[in-house]
Amino acid sequence: MYNHLLPDKFVSTVFDITPENLKEMGFRGIITDLDNTLIEWDRADATEELAAWFKRMQDAGIRIVIASNNNEERVKRFAEPLSIPYISRARKPLGKGFYQALVRLKLKREEVAMVGDQLLTDVMGAKRQKLYTILVRPVAQSDGFVTRFNRFVERRVFNELKRKGIKTWEDL
Ligand SMILES: [Mg+2]
Repeated sequence: MYNHLLPDKFVSTVFDITPENLKEMGFRGIITDLDNTLIEWDRADATEELAAWFKRMQDAGIRIVIASNNNEERVKRFAEPLSIPYISRARKPLGKGFYQALVRLKLKREEVAMVGDQLLTDVMGAKRQKLYTILVRPVAQSDGFVTRFNRFVERRVFNELKRKGIKTWEDL
C-alpha cells in the first residue's frame, strides 16, 4: 500500500544529484521542490553553492523548473535571481502543478525526475504522474505548520518501510 509513497532514490542533499548521473539515467530535466529541498523553508535566498549547482545543471543542458506549494512572493524571490522558471502554489500532490511543470520543461515525463523532501506532496504527487522520484533529506529540522502534520505521517511510513526491509537514507 506504500508503493505510491516510495521514492525511486534517496539522496542526502541535492548536491548528490549531478548532470552526469541524471544523463546516465536518461533524464533531461528535473522538477524540484523549494522548501527544505533546496534551502531551509525560512531562508529567502539561494546559497552560493546552490547557485553554482543550478549553473552546472544548466550548462550541461539539464532543464529545471521549481514547483512549490508556497506562495508567489516566496518562490519568485528565490527563483528570479537565478533565472529558474517556477510554479508557485503548485498544490502538490495534485496533478496540475506537475502538468504545468512538464509543459514548462517541454519534456516527456520519462525524461524528467522529481526532486523533493516530502513523501505526501512531492513523492506521492510525482508518482501519480508516473515521474521518477528522488527524495532528499530535509535541509532543516524544523518545518512550517502544515508540514509538521505531514512529517508525523511520514515517520509512520518510514517505520513501515524499515520493517519491510526497504532501503532508505540510513543505508546510504
Ligand atoms: Mg519541501
